[in-house]
Amino acid sequence: MASIKVKAIVIGGTNVKEKDRQVRLFTLENGKMQVSMKGVRGEKAKMKAAKEPFCFGEYIIEQTSTSNIVTGVDIIDNFFEISKDIDKYYEACAMLDVVDKVSTSQANPQLFLQILKALKTICYENVKKYYCIDKFMLNIFAAMGYKFMTDVCSSCGGRLAKRFFNFEYGEIVCTACKNDLCDEISDACYSALRLFENTTYEKLSTLHIGGMGEMQAYSLLAKNFNWRTGFKMIDIP
Ligand SMILES: [Zn+2]
Repeated sequence: MASIKVKAIVIGGTNVKEKDRQVRLFTLENGKMQVSMKGVRGEKAKMKAAKEPFCFGEYIIEQTSTSNIVTGVDIIDNFFEISKDIDKYYEACAMLDVVDKVSTSQANPQLFLQILKALKTICYENVKKYYCIDKFMLNIFAAMGYKFMTDVCSSCGGRLAKRFFNFEYGEIVCTACKNDLCDEISDACYSALRLFENTTYEKLSTLHIGGMGEMQAYSLLAKNFNWRTGFKMIDIP
């Protein structure tokens, strides 16, 4: 048996047998991994907290040809506060779900850094609803090569008096270039996207978005995610 140590965030899992749990880890070193955690659902289980979504730590995994079994965990942060605020909880779950959907068994340090920063921000900063996930999604699109923010029409290069989002191509176009697959982007939505793009996670709590721009931005980002990846983001109630 070989033993490896990875930095990982719990992104999901299912209960098995009486006290075990199959856990999906997003690791810095190996991307997404399925691991078994034995006896962790017992009241007094040592690794109880390490099986929960959001938990970030160093996981020691015994690898055999057929299984990955977690034998020890040093928790770095379990982001416990997230679960105490229902709005933060749903938003953070939606971000974990995005990681679950786009990650593979290849290491993706950029995605790892993004989800870690986003979880830290939503847990410890006083950010308003949707701010963190909007910032996160903009960065995810950029990392996937789908960056779309622009000052001019992405199709003709012309001035943008009104802006439309072309979901077929994932780009912002002008009135002359729009077609049936475009949604108009309101000024509030566009300025929210601009602000999120230009503001670091650390400064998100200082932003004040008007006109429900952050909600409109979220709808646009979720629809774009669906078009770009074929996956649906989970709803934030
Ligand atoms: Zn145009």
